[in-house]
Amino acid sequence: MTDENIPFLDLVTVHRELQDELVEVLTTALKSAGFIGGLMVQGFEEDFARFCEARFCVGVGSGTDALRFALIAAGVKSGDIVITVPNTFIATTEAISQAGAQPDFVDIDPRTYAMDHEKLREYLERKCRWNTKTGQVIHNATGKPITAVVPVHLYGQMADMDAILDLATQYNFKVVEDACQAQGAEYFSQKDNRWHKAGSMGHAAAFSFYPGKNLGACGEAGAITTNDEQLAHMCRLLRDHGQSKKYFHDIEGYNGRLDAIQAGFLRVKLQHLAKWNEQRREVAERYNKLFAGAEEIVTLPHQPGWARSVYHLYVVQVEDRVGLQKHLSDVGIGTGIHYPVALHLTKAYEGLGFHRGDFPITEKLVAQILSLPMFPGLTFDQQVRVVGEIQKAVSTSTQSR
Ligand SMILES: *Cc1c(COP(=O)(O)O)cnc(C)c1O
Repeated sequence: MTDENIPFLDLVTVHRELQDELVEVLTTALKSAGFIGGLMVQGFEEDFARFCEARFCVGVGSGTDALRFALIAAGVKSGDIVITVPNTFIATTEAISQAGAQPDFVDIDPRTYAMDHEKLREYLERKCRWNTKTGQVIHNATGKPITAVVPVHLYGQMADMDAILDLATQYNFKVVEDACQAQGAEYFSQKDNRWHKAGSMGHAAAFSFYPGKNLGACGEAGAITTNDEQLAHMCRLLRDHGQSKKYFHDIEGYNGRLDAIQAGFLRVKLQHLAKWNEQRREVAERYNKLFAGAEEIVTLPHQPGWARSVYHLYVVQVEDRVGLQKHLSDVGIGTGIHYPVALHLTKAYEGLGFHRGDFPITEKLVAQILSLPMFPGLTFDQQVRVVGEIQKAVSTSTQSR
């Protein structure tokens, strides 16, 4: 066992191993000066659509762009309500607001940390009414229609999509998956008895290729996947100033294109993604085994039978999160918190009128979660040390109570 520092995430080694291939992408781009659009972007879009088992992929500038464009293309308009969860990164709700809608929340399942579809059903049954003229479900208190729901496949594991999609059919809203943390995650659908990839089940899905994601660019990048040709076409317009051809603008759009060099890098890295996801699963398995017997003091991630997680993060819950994080930092072990503030209580949303107590499962969770070191090259010895230090810290804090 070594006492070397253990980083939360190691992005250096993987790029060192791929350096020659990545530099070749740069050289090719420099030679042709094809920095925007072109074959590198198209090639990546085709590869990523295939990887996600979706018909279409539209490369964009970031995961936030992907969420925003997917929502607008799905028909979300100013004056709508879009429902998501309070346990997510703010980009989810930023995209909802920037599409013109008002974000609202339902709480999460305490075991999977993703949207609780029973809470969604209660919201629709108790807080809404049906407008038979428009065929829309209307929020009673505001009179606004609920036009979309954004389940977040947090930490690498998909939300319970069968139940959410059933509600979408029943209540006539669109489902846009926030798959930013879930490239390659899978869900077993009871409807057709088979596994489905993240990004292939909803009306559209948003992916981020921020460097730290399971598939990360060497800069900013994102993508939308969908099986709906019209929706894909609309996203292509939105990302490029609404142009159907140069200087012919069908609509007002955005500058949200995928950089060609990033697409080239992503195409190289995508070839390794399945293997890296498998290595992350092995890392998670080893953590699970090393923590066996300590479940009383450390709550481990829960993977239901219908989920195959890609462990973007390995998140545990402990009572004294502050103390544990400090101890690990003192002994050179990096950790993270995803995320420390429930979104309905974050300063930016003071104006939405939420209160402490509105979403108790999320509120309790955010005070206890800690993301442990997780990346494909994390070694068994490093994990033994992480778990050993956690057991040391947690048992002393339990004794001192
Ligand atoms: C990373 C992330 C985003 C945003 O992606 P960017 O590429 O940083 O814009 C959105 N939602 C979730 C859940 C994320 O993890």
